[in-house]
Amino acid sequence: MKSRPSFPAKLPSSGGQSSKPLSPATVMVSPASAGRSAPSSSTAVSSGLGLDSSAVRARMVAKLAEQGVQDPWVLQAMGQVERHRFVETALAGQAYEDTSLPIGLGQTISKPNVVARMIELLRQDATGKLGRVLEIGTGCGYQATVLSQVATEVYSIERLRGLHEKAKKNLLPFRLPNVHLILGDGMLGFSKGAPYAGIISAAGGDEVPLTWLDQLAVGARLVAPIVTASGQQALVVIRRTATGFDRQVLEAVHFVPLKSGIA
Ligand code: SAH
Repeated sequence: MKSRPSFPAKLPSSGGQSSKPLSPATVMVSPASAGRSAPSSSTAVSSGLGLDSSAVRARMVAKLAEQGVQDPWVLQAMGQVERHRFVETALAGQAYEDTSLPIGLGQTISKPNVVARMIELLRQDATGKLGRVLEIGTGCGYQATVLSQVATEVYSIERLRGLHEKAKKNLLPFRLPNVHLILGDGMLGFSKGAPYAGIISAAGGDEVPLTWLDQLAVGARLVAPIVTASGQQALVVIRRTATGFDRQVLEAVHFVPLKSGIA
């Protein structure tokens, strides 16, 4: 039997000073502790702007824990980042439901459960924060913001100018100095930040581009959707070892396609 996740017992209780959301006009001090089991709570000063979504977010986090997400860093980050700020106002009411939502230009923001699952896979074995990570497919910037809480640096690349601009606008008020948004073709990875302690793709191709593998540090993992023999997408996790790559194909998923070039 799986051991019970430490959440919620070890996470800051809702309403406490330490559970203030990561929201615009919030000054964030990242967890200083290197311990995996109990990331120290973030000190955040919120202006109290807008919707009080902390209770719905806490419910979402409790559900993620029930669904098997155990990494306290991931749960804490999911509890802090205000997902409703990344979707159109008309969809804000659905922001904490376990559903993907349209973000424009035919693209979607992944379900919270999928975001949490993929980041947990990326962080397997990590004690404390991950180092530099690369995200392919910035979209609206939500996942990049979650990553900014669990990794020291985030490079996130988007091929659609409209979404790259949208993500820049969405992230601006959060003032996250460790997130770098790049307009470019993520099929080529982003060599300037390599080697990465993790690479995560929010778009699925037929195979993982070899450049991603090249840009992975030894011991690091890549998590991405790929199209399998059956024509369905599945999550693949590839870990770079000292001598090669270990590969695991996991559950079925539904992501937008990985495309080349900038548009
Ligand atoms: N992580 C995003 C999810 C966005 S959906 C979020 O939190 O909102 C996946 C994104 O991948 C889309 O915006 C799509 O345009 C982008 N994408 C597809 N192929 C790409 C490529 N080769 N390089 C960069 N981005 C790509």
